[in-house]
Amino acid sequence: MGAPLDRSATWPYEDGQPGRFSYARADHPTGVACEEALGELDGGHALLYPSGMGAVTTVVLTMLRPGGTVALAEGAYYGHRVLFDHLSPWGVNVVEFDQTGPPPAQANLIFLEAPANPLLTMPDLEAAAAHPAPVVCDATVATPLRLRPLDHGADVVVHSATKILAGHDDVLAGVTVTGDPELRERLHLTRRLTGIVAAADTAWLVQRGLETLETRLARQEATARVLAERLATHPAVTTVRYPGFSFLIAFDVADGVSAGRVERAARTIENATSLGGTRSKLEARHRWEGDRIPTGLIRLSIGLEDQETLWSDLAAALDGA
Ligand code: PLP
Repeated sequence: MGAPLDRSATWPYEDGQPGRFSYARADHPTGVACEEALGELDGGHALLYPSGMGAVTTVVLTMLRPGGTVALAEGAYYGHRVLFDHLSPWGVNVVEFDQTGPPPAQANLIFLEAPANPLLTMPDLEAAAAHPAPVVCDATVATPLRLRPLDHGADVVVHSATKILAGHDDVLAGVTVTGDPELRERLHLTRRLTGIVAAADTAWLVQRGLETLETRLARQEATARVLAERLATHPAVTTVRYPGFSFLIAFDVADGVSAGRVERAARTIENATSLGGTRSKLEARHRWEGDRIPTGLIRLSIGLEDQETLWSDLAAALDGA
């Protein structure tokens, strides 16, 4: 049985005083039930937000002072870079660095991604933890079932729960998890004051997704492993990036024109953005990310469809590239 869906925005005071729940911008029962499940998975105290970017914004507003520098993993989700640049009038500086090594000395906040979307490098969490600045790790693609960054010295884990945690492409959601109760309170205060808080429906859908996370991930990952191996042998493919686990692959074809042909030729695999859902998706990322990535890079998120159906579709699309 999942948590009951309680859409109330306000609850009566108890004996003239606010009880555990009084106004939903602070907390609501459906959100708290989901946060308990998420916290257990990552081994810390979780908070839910209306999107992954809402979670990241809350982290930056809480953990960085004006004039501070975020050291962001190269090849990480491009939206993080765009957000940090957008916040530059508020005194946010950003430098990118190779997360497989130590972060730059001037960092005031370290932002890793495990694995980076779409370049799929893994961070050196121990090197980051040795730096004096707090460490945030976006583990959207790894999921807490494959990596628990708090166990490796990270201060905060971030997830876009829009992806495989909720898993069905029908809800936007974000998560932070920290092992430090005081930091959790500071994040909670920012969330409450800014109103970056997930609705009860969002929390309910995320928690329902968690019920099948293990099964979905196991199948999506098993298919991804096989397809990554086969892609490496296809003559139209020049590079395959796959970290050996999870559901996301990035591979290169010759150039942007070939990538566009693959996008238009795929049938079972949707030509759409996002990742981690039950339906496979592919997308040439250059249109969004520009020169950060090769022109022929295609991001492929494996869903729950039959493995051989997916391979036939992909192989046919590549044959025409
Ligand atoms: N982190 C990663 C790794 C992502 O891929 C995304 C979105 O694609 C985000 C964060 C942002 O999450 P959301 O779209 O839920 O705001």
